[in-house]
Amino acid sequence: MKKIGILVTVACLFMCLTTMKVNGQQQMTDKTLSDVYFTKDISPEGVMKIFNYIKKNVKGKVGIKIHFGEDGNQYRLPANLVEPLCKELNATLVETNVAYTGRRGKTATHIQLAKDHGYTFAPIDILDSEGEMNAPVKKGSNFKVAKLGSHLKDYNTIVYFTHFKGHGSAGIGGSIKNASMGMASPNGKKEMHGKFFPVVDNSKCVVCRRCVENCPVGAITLNPLSIDKTKCIGCAKCVSTCPNGAIRNPEDKETTRVFLERLVEYAQAAIDEVPSVYINIIMNVSPTCDCGNHPKKPFVGDIGIVASTDIVAADKAAYDLVNKAKNSKDAFLDVEGISGMYQLEYAEKLGMGNTQYHLIDIDK
Ligand code: SF4
Ligand code: SF4
Repeated sequence: MKKIGILVTVACLFMCLTTMKVNGQQQMTDKTLSDVYFTKDISPEGVMKIFNYIKKNVKGKVGIKIHFGEDGNQYRLPANLVEPLCKELNATLVETNVAYTGRRGKTATHIQLAKDHGYTFAPIDILDSEGEMNAPVKKGSNFKVAKLGSHLKDYNTIVYFTHFKGHGSAGIGGSIKNASMGMASPNGKKEMHGKFFPVVDNSKCVVCRRCVENCPVGAITLNPLSIDKTKCIGCAKCVSTCPNGAIRNPEDKETTRVFLERLVEYAQAAIDEVPSVYINIIMNVSPTCDCGNHPKKPFVGDIGIVASTDIVAADKAAYDLVNKAKNSKDAFLDVEGISGMYQLEYAEKLGMGNTQYHLIDIDK
């Protein structure tokens, strides 16, 4: 009995000593938790510093996946943030074309747009410029294969360098969104968006025609405002384009749930295909994504950078930091009506990563 008592005491002592800060609260250390690094320093130097903590996972030919930002989007990431990292890794900047009109829809104009936005210091590879590849979706209930840009298979590591902000259809636009919609071919993007038809409020329409000019398939008519569902591909470009909220995402939870699951399954296929690490830049946190040419004003300013080898933990940590800054349980739900949490929970369910993490402040 005495021996058992000593063992229990030693075990208790060990448990106390291994208690550490997790998700902002004191919890037990659990080896299944993922490490997420954090710095407040949003600068090229801050990027290099935080990258040191995850760099052992980066090998061979490296692609840095980045969103160059739509024409007119003033909240996109500044190009100089990634420049030293790109040079150190001798990396290529990688992106895919979008399914709608505009310069990001075709390879030549997309590359020119990237250069106009300052990405002149590295080669640029539009991954679907020579077509798409079918990547297996190993788990999930919506897809068996994902249609990704075919050049993805040319890389040994992808660094997802992501502007963490909101997203009109997905709630949050973080690393999962960057690996998902960001690596899909235009056909893949349409497949994910399919049947995600927006809803309209004619009373808010001022007939500015922005939505009509941005719709890739001519599905919108005005006076009265309506969307032809036989043409609409659900790309949500009109939602991010309308300045008056006259076009909104569908509000029924089932449609949103299916869309988020599709999104996560595509991300799973992309990160299964090529080993990856994740850097989220939490700055200019707009409710809408960098695809919009008239983005909504940020509701949170600059918070910092998180980095991890776990895609789910990287996004969950960024999500928690934004919520903390807004003193909200779900700031994205508050501002745009869609929670990002289901993305994270579903990704965890598919085994892509962990919503529980250790936040390691590298500034201290
Ligand atoms: S109506 Fe809106 S969601 Fe549908 S295709 Fe046009 S821009 Fe995309
Ligand atoms: S962008 Fe909005 S306000 Fe302008 S025409 Fe379209 S629905 Fe109407």
